Amino acid sequence: MADGVSTESLTDSPALREDGDDLVVSLCSRLISFDTTNRGNGDAEGEREAAEFVAARLADAGVEARLLERSPRRTNVLARIPGSDPTLPAVLIQGHLDVVPADASEWSFDPFSGEVRDGYILGRGATDMKDTVASTLATVHRWAAEGRRPRRDVVLAFVADEEDKGEDGAHWLVEEHTDYFTGIAAAIGESGGFTHNVGDLRIYPIGAAERGTAHLRLTAKGRAGHASRPNADNPVTRLVGALNRIAEYRWPVHLTPAVTAYIEGTGAALGIEVDLSSEAAVDATLARLGAAASLAEATVRPTTTPTVLSAGYKVNVIPGQAVAEVDVRTLPGGEDEVLAQLDRLIGPGIEREFIACQPPVSAPIDSSWFTALADALRAEDPAAVVVPYCMGGGTDAKAFAPLGIDCYGFAPVFVPPDYPYRAMAHAVDERIPVAGLRFADRVLDRFLSTC
Ligand SMILES: [Zn+2]
Repeated sequence: MADGVSTESLTDSPALREDGDDLVVSLCSRLISFDTTNRGNGDAEGEREAAEFVAARLADAGVEARLLERSPRRTNVLARIPGSDPTLPAVLIQGHLDVVPADASEWSFDPFSGEVRDGYILGRGATDMKDTVASTLATVHRWAAEGRRPRRDVVLAFVADEEDKGEDGAHWLVEEHTDYFTGIAAAIGESGGFTHNVGDLRIYPIGAAERGTAHLRLTAKGRAGHASRPNADNPVTRLVGALNRIAEYRWPVHLTPAVTAYIEGTGAALGIEVDLSSEAAVDATLARLGAAASLAEATVRPTTTPTVLSAGYKVNVIPGQAVAEVDVRTLPGGEDEVLAQLDRLIGPGIEREFIACQPPVSAPIDSSWFTALADALRAEDPAAVVVPYCMGGGTDAKAFAPLGIDCYGFAPVFVPPDYPYRAMAHAVDERIPVAGLRFADRVLDRFLSTC
């Protein structure tokens, strides 16, 4: 399975050592080989075989797992590994087993082979996020083999359906199996702890916030009639006007603690002047940050993006109704303000309803959790510049955060400069460097063992 592994080109960095065994590699490879495609709206291959594999590997390490399904084959794996100090609150590691579809005709290799070639593990899910599931399993195996155990209870939740709405996964588990998540103080999950290379600098952003998701449907109703006799109550005209006002509106800067800390931390590391005193100053600071700005520019403001539009059925008929959908992303503490301004932009005569509404997530950046995460990264890469950041989109943290759990985006990967990590998730030819995965394995072991 590990034929052709070569990490030669990746070993120059101080972040990398060559003492890792290949368990994490073979686990990741095998996990990729289970086709857990999630096409959305319940159309999915199912996570069952992957979940059974995870449960069997946990059993090898003496950990008993529970498999839970809301819908057939949409399997979730839960397990709890007791720590040495039962007085400490537990930590949760949450990951998903499903992947987005892969059209094999567009790929240069089989998306579900899990082949290891030229220093990479190839296939759908390699970075999103069977890599993290593999690192966690490898850590648990090492604990069993070496007779170690974590300080606090470590709860594992490897779930179904993250790539759609989580109705068969995290959101269902939190609703129907809430008890399982009591006594957990903090969680780590996807999107954070990876290397973001900016010149010679290795920045490691840790997710300390996530923007909220408000998916809106706007419905304009009006007077239907013959298009040759225009009327003042045409719903198409009214809706297009509203969408145009939304698209043209420049949302004011709304700085949240994670975003401010990201800009200040990367600015200091790059030796760049940071001025956040006005709209123009923030925009100018982002411009000076160069490649480092890509992890902040979508999160200094909310965004409102019209995406779906439908009305009419014949060119000479004014329809009675026009409908649009708008993707709205809100910042922690800014949701009410955004909706109030949106209503002013939408104007009268248009109904607004939520298709989905998930509030933003935020966790403290001055916490012992954040320090422990940063320490684990610095221990494996002494040159790491660790900063918090706010995710522009969403993860299953939105399901766990309402339970009072501080959710951090932390799925570490060492990213060599020539590897486009952030372009990998959901992309054609998804792959992860073997050396990057071994780094992940060591960082996770360190954090989960000592936190
Ligand atoms: Zn993911």
